[in-house]
Amino acid sequence: MTGLHPARWWHAEGASKVRCTLCPRYCLIGEGQSGFCYIRQHHDGRLWSAGYGRPSGFAADPIEKKPLNHFLPGVRVLSFGTVGCNLGCKFCQNWDISKARDEERGLASVTPEEVVALARRTGCAGIAYTYNDPVIWAEFAIDVARVARAAGLVNVLVTAGYVTAEARPELFEHMDATNVDLKAFTEEFYHRITLSHLAPVLETLVWLRRETAVWTEVTTLLIPGLNDGDEEIGRQCDWFLEHLGADVPLHFTAFHPDYRMLDRERTPATTLRRARAIARARGIRHCYVGNIHDREGQTTFCPTCGATLIERDWHAIRRYRLDGNCCVECGAGLPGRFHPGRHDGTERHTPGTRFAVSL
Ligand code: SF4
Repeated sequence: MTGLHPARWWHAEGASKVRCTLCPRYCLIGEGQSGFCYIRQHHDGRLWSAGYGRPSGFAADPIEKKPLNHFLPGVRVLSFGTVGCNLGCKFCQNWDISKARDEERGLASVTPEEVVALARRTGCAGIAYTYNDPVIWAEFAIDVARVARAAGLVNVLVTAGYVTAEARPELFEHMDATNVDLKAFTEEFYHRITLSHLAPVLETLVWLRRETAVWTEVTTLLIPGLNDGDEEIGRQCDWFLEHLGADVPLHFTAFHPDYRMLDRERTPATTLRRARAIARARGIRHCYVGNIHDREGQTTFCPTCGATLIERDWHAIRRYRLDGNCCVECGAGLPGRFHPGRHDGTERHTPGTRFAVSL
């Protein structure tokens, strides 16, 4: 079938429908129809992916943009997504691709080997599966990740974590790090604002922490008046500590008005700082703020002696002071994966910018 790749994680149901089991929507799809995410389609009694090998564009991003602050700081990762999405967030910050159709974007076809070659050519240390949710094009992400790992590159999955227990193990098998969006801490927000549910996301987070070695960080985009109350943030932090632990980095990032949420103000810096203060007071050791300039809220401190270890401004690293994974002052370990060797005050890791690349 032209432009389509056989999909996985589905079964036939009844005489004329297929059930997709990749994400908790479990779409029941009739002949000639698409699932909610658009790129998984039923033709001739089978489920197909229209997203396989069809990136909507590439960029070489600093890994801090994912955001990942405790995983190879300062490297660039070749970042790409496709079109479509399995969530329906009214505030989507990437809606031009998540809501697009492939015929609208005129997508070129690429192989996993071509993606990996492009990453190497542009000096990237790895590949990030991102922008729209890579869960819906898991078949391609897995195939690229396999080739990338064999070539010595790392793999980073940026996701909302809305994936079934059935598909999780294979999706994450070749991933080295992930950032999971925890969009709020109420089912009401998930249901009304993202058209999905909270529980499966929490299950994915717990599973990642308990069952895998994938380095995990979590991001919550704070939207004024919707998910930025002290009580909700406090409950999220309590759950976080109990189920993920104090060493998993948590990012609070600023919303800007977009897509169907143009009537709300941009998140004030004071809101992000308040959320960070709540998280730190509860015991979360590495809490960051994003999408604003805030050196204090973007810097990594030694959890033992408080020394400045990685000083950042937005995505740029200003100072890097680690001996492998250890504090240069007291020798305490810092959770995550850092560059080998001793670095003290160098400005070696300072990409801080992104650039678009093409094949
Ligand atoms: S991946 Fe797409 S088709 Fe499959 S259940 Fe989720 S939204 Fe539906």
